[in-house]
Amino acid sequence: MGDVSTGRAIRVGENALGLDVEAIRADFPILDQKINDKPLIYLDNAATSQKPRTVINALIDYYRKYNANIHRGVHALAEQATERYEATRSHVARFLGDIDRERVVFTKGTTEAINLIASSYGVEQVRAGDNVVVTEMEHHANFVPWFHLADSTGAELRRIPITVCGHLDLSRIDDIITDRTRIVAVSHMSNVLGTIVDLQPLIDRAHDVGAIVVIDGAQSVPHFPVDLSALDADFYVFSAHKMLGPTGVGVLVGQREILDAMPPYQYGGSMIQEVRFDRVTYESSPNRFEAGTPNIADVVAFDAALSYLEHLGMDAVRLHERELTRYALRKLQEVPGLELQGPADAEHRGGVFSFTDPDIHPADIGAYLDAKGIAIRAGHHCAQPLLRQMQKVATARASIYVYNDESDIDRLVAALVDMRTYFGVG
Ligand code: PLP
Repeated sequence: MGDVSTGRAIRVGENALGLDVEAIRADFPILDQKINDKPLIYLDNAATSQKPRTVINALIDYYRKYNANIHRGVHALAEQATERYEATRSHVARFLGDIDRERVVFTKGTTEAINLIASSYGVEQVRAGDNVVVTEMEHHANFVPWFHLADSTGAELRRIPITVCGHLDLSRIDDIITDRTRIVAVSHMSNVLGTIVDLQPLIDRAHDVGAIVVIDGAQSVPHFPVDLSALDADFYVFSAHKMLGPTGVGVLVGQREILDAMPPYQYGGSMIQEVRFDRVTYESSPNRFEAGTPNIADVVAFDAALSYLEHLGMDAVRLHERELTRYALRKLQEVPGLELQGPADAEHRGGVFSFTDPDIHPADIGAYLDAKGIAIRAGHHCAQPLLRQMQKVATARASIYVYNDESDIDRLVAALVDMRTYFGVG
């Protein structure tokens, strides 16, 4: 298990809940390098996270020791691969509050999970005259599939606006979510503003009118505890790669009755009960939605990412990020003219900092910081409707995770101040 199993990732001292960032960094080989002759500071975690040695080793182990196809093999390797793949499913279920493991469907990411729901549940349930509700802060992954569904069925796509502070404006929620609403799709945390959404009022209103709720957890599950046994969501989706796991693995959690009543999304091997020339019957969930050979290696390695996060403790992860967010919100104000987006209060937001400089284009900010070894993201962050609403074409975005600390924020802020001198605007 490498360093995590020794327990040295947890610091017992001044702040028993804090993370020992130095020890954590040592678990991530990629962080130990120079970019443009400067030590790498990785602040692009909202795009994807880095992987600890345990995850990398799990991938290598799989290919070296027990690579085989799953679910239908009769030999030892196939049994071992099947057992490990299914063990990750059980682990995901435990990680999310001990839910029924049959509710967990593996996809290739959040995007595929939402497309699955839209193409299966959506196409079956949504008709002309109905409406589908999204919010103004959605990632394209939780916007475009619903746009396409509404467009192709003649349904109306409605949106919940945001306030100037970057929260959802629920004041007109009863007019927006109505008895013709079939689906409400909302992010648990915004990938641009960092806003953490209070889901309960939306879930309550949707259920009152008989609609289902789809929650995009791509930015939430990696960063704070999510207990799906306590949250009455119909669908909850996220991606492994944003939470220390490999790329190519997503999770869709659905309510059992809804999943089993939904038509399959893709057709082929592994998802059938019986196939005849004149009749095909399908498996129940989750197999019904996992046609063909799945991404076995990456699912197996995702298990190690879940263990790593559990070892740190998701409460401790949230506490660390909340304190670091508080620090960053304060420090970023030292950069003259910098305009920071999203809620000002660390209690209601995560560690995603989108900002603009009045004189320097976000792409130039990104390039300047890269020259200093600091990796951030610049662009529209796959949220063009939101950026349009903010009257921006692009922003620069820094985002933190468990291996970042105050020193990373200090270097970011110092570089942003120097940048203004470099561009002759300081
Ligand atoms: N939703 C949100 C809020 C995201 O931040 C992202 C990725 O940036 C996605 C969905 C899409 O995730 P993926 O590309 O892993 O499918």
